[in-house]
Amino acid sequence: MKENKVLFTIFGATGDLAQRKLYPSLFRLYRTGSLVESFAVIGTARRPWSDETYREIVQETIAYLNPTEEEAQAFSSHFYYQAHDVNDTEHYDKLKDLADTLDAKYTLDGNRLYYLAMSPAFFGTIVSHLESQKMLTSDGYHRVIIEKPFGTDYETAAKLNEEITSVFAENEIYRIDHYLGKEMIQNISAIRFANNIFESMWNNRYIDNVQISIAENLGVEDRGGYYDKSGALKDMVQNHILQVLSLLVMEPPVAFSEQEIRAEKIKALEAVRVYTPEEVKENFIRGQYTAGRLADNQYLGYLEEPGVAEDSKTETFVAGKFTIDNFRWSGVPFYVRTGKRLTEKGTRINVVFKQVPVNLFKAEVGAECEQPALEPNVLTIYIQPTEGFSLSLNGKEVGPSFNMLPTQLAYRNSAEAIENTPEAYEKLLLDALKGDGTNFTHWKEVAQSWRIVDVIRQTWDQSEEGCETYPAGTMGPEAAFELLEKDGFKWIWHPDEWYRERNLL
Ligand code: NAD
Repeated sequence: MKENKVLFTIFGATGDLAQRKLYPSLFRLYRTGSLVESFAVIGTARRPWSDETYREIVQETIAYLNPTEEEAQAFSSHFYYQAHDVNDTEHYDKLKDLADTLDAKYTLDGNRLYYLAMSPAFFGTIVSHLESQKMLTSDGYHRVIIEKPFGTDYETAAKLNEEITSVFAENEIYRIDHYLGKEMIQNISAIRFANNIFESMWNNRYIDNVQISIAENLGVEDRGGYYDKSGALKDMVQNHILQVLSLLVMEPPVAFSEQEIRAEKIKALEAVRVYTPEEVKENFIRGQYTAGRLADNQYLGYLEEPGVAEDSKTETFVAGKFTIDNFRWSGVPFYVRTGKRLTEKGTRINVVFKQVPVNLFKAEVGAECEQPALEPNVLTIYIQPTEGFSLSLNGKEVGPSFNMLPTQLAYRNSAEAIENTPEAYEKLLLDALKGDGTNFTHWKEVAQSWRIVDVIRQTWDQSEEGCETYPAGTMGPEAAFELLEKDGFKWIWHPDEWYRERNLL
């Protein structure tokens, strides 16, 4: 394996993301040999930590990966801490000195990767200082990894992008959407482009509708204050859902390369109809959870959660129908839904195929009961927590009569394979080290996603009507089900039914 020579500078080094995701991911890269001796990490944040304190913290964050004492020491010895206020110009000079020293000490060839793991409000300030304080030398490469959210609407995103692109070129900017690092999201391309039975049917002649569900069973936990300003539309639809949608909608790229894949994803997003306010009202609904019970658990309503305004109108659930205006997808609705405090945690995609033109297996005239309609064939891609895919088919029930029996061909990644799969952040960090931006979002994708979402947000903000409500533990408000019923469809995934049948919901 090739050793990656690099100096990481992590802004926000004392924060939650750095501790929970970045240090363990760096350690995994160290363990697997992607980082060996020629790497160093400068952690910076406001707290006045010493290198020793920082290294102890880093060791604590990787303890669950059971490193040997020696391994933990050796790994953390590459970490250096520099207290820093991002608004203070002089602090960048200190950072530069430390960076130059470490570059020489570890022979890093001037390769620099900046990770902005802090509030987006600071991104512009940081990158402009990196330039003005001459931290971007001509040796090696300079890349910047940026956390979500990238802006809060098109306008703020465009402004942020201008600030960043005045310092870094587009191919040096790695905008994180950690969904793109997930194993099964990457598998969407394999399922589509390596299986002729799917790709040849991947269009409006054979597909009735597509459903994307990202369900969380947790509430807002201790992030009420943050979430109340964001809501499900900005938190999930603008980024993760539209990214998944673009992978399902895009044309086959001419090569499996960053440039070609991104070009197709951009085209896919450009084919998503930007609704008028009237179309928004028809095609999108929002909900907020109220108190509820699921099995032995009692849950608070959203308005009772800590940090949430008691008259908040923020949505904790969104369901909607996207329309794709191109030859391949015209007439095929893409239904999406996401929410908090739903019945089960799960991200899955259901591709619902059209029925055979004639159902030969109707009940005989005068039969006691009418045979139910044929179930559609459904390809399900399980993203998380289960990973795998299944295809539902109709077969004949064993016996003298000709009853149809829906059956499933199902494949799940084994627990062992899942355990050994690199974490999303680990994969994305490695991609950034290699200079591969395939699994990061291009500015044009971000921009188009905001254009699609902004009109939904504005329509809701101007509407007199508030959110629909749904009891915690259910799969969302009634209106989310009516959205499909009015088109003659239904949600394929309905984990709430199991609980309802047992009177647990
Ligand atoms: P956090 O509040 O835990 O950490 C913020 C960090 O910024 C701290 O290290 C703090 O010291 C530093 N900081 C704040 N003001 C500073 C200043 N003036 N000068 C220098 N340092 C300063 O935040 P977080 O949860 O780690 O999130 C960081 C970023 O990652 C945010 O953009 C967030 O939206 C994004 N993100 C976080 C998660 C997550 O799981 N935590 C997930 C997705 C995206």
